[in-house]
Amino acid sequence: MKVTFYGVRGSIPAPGCETSRYGGNTTCAEVITTGGYRMIIDCGTGIRKLGIKLLKEKDPATIPIFITHAHWDHVQGLPFFLPIYMPRFKLMFVSANDGFDRLYQTLYNQMDGYVFPADLQEVQSQVKYEIIDAKGFDFGGVHFDTILNNHPVPTHGLRIKDGKKTFVFITDNELQAANPITPFSDFVAFCQGADILVHDAQYTEEDMKRTRGWGHSTFSEAIKLAEEAGVKRLGFFHHDPERTDDQLDEIIKQMQGTTQIKLFGTREGEELDL
Ligand SMILES: [Zn+2]
Ligand SMILES: [Zn+2]
Repeated sequence: MKVTFYGVRGSIPAPGCETSRYGGNTTCAEVITTGGYRMIIDCGTGIRKLGIKLLKEKDPATIPIFITHAHWDHVQGLPFFLPIYMPRFKLMFVSANDGFDRLYQTLYNQMDGYVFPADLQEVQSQVKYEIIDAKGFDFGGVHFDTILNNHPVPTHGLRIKDGKKTFVFITDNELQAANPITPFSDFVAFCQGADILVHDAQYTEEDMKRTRGWGHSTFSEAIKLAEEAGVKRLGFFHHDPERTDDQLDEIIKQMQGTTQIKLFGTREGEELDL
């Protein structure tokens, strides 16, 4: 299984020379299973570049696009994802039921020819929708489990078990929420033994004094989860737009001194091989 990040930033794109190493685009990742099936996670601004790559595909198979939730930073790239305008592309949006309502309201309603030049009639790709429930979903012979995150709107984390390897992706999740929808122990069970866990780590403990309840986690909270779940590698994700590359390097270095687990900051363009 291969996972490539096209956007790792949280909340709003943060381009510029201070963020160029980790990248400024918002959430988007591509997963290629061992069997060669492609899947996309989220449509943040990073999906634009992935779309350009996909245009080279001659006869593309159906591509599932898993939408964690419809917050702006996870959907705003879709109007710039060129495959949606091309009849030869077959896309299948996979999300929770209420996510679709919002997807339509926030995304397609903006494609009215006023706030975005293209309108909905120009979406010529073959689009399907699959609503997920607690059981997750299957695609390309691989099972995808989901978990409900602690976030202000319904948001799902994802676990992909492909052969002997397990990849878990959980963004926009407050592990230590005051009134959690999903308790910490459930996340520990969900991430158990993962080869790589990529988790929201938008804030430091200092930031969290003013951001508690916003639906995100700290670096230390993500480490605690990885340790209790026996995860092999932990990638920090949803980098704060204010966080510079140098600050991130420094935080990761400090954090690495507190745990045996191999830590890394997810980077745009980085390919993880599992
Ligand atoms: Zn987000
Ligand atoms: Zn969010």
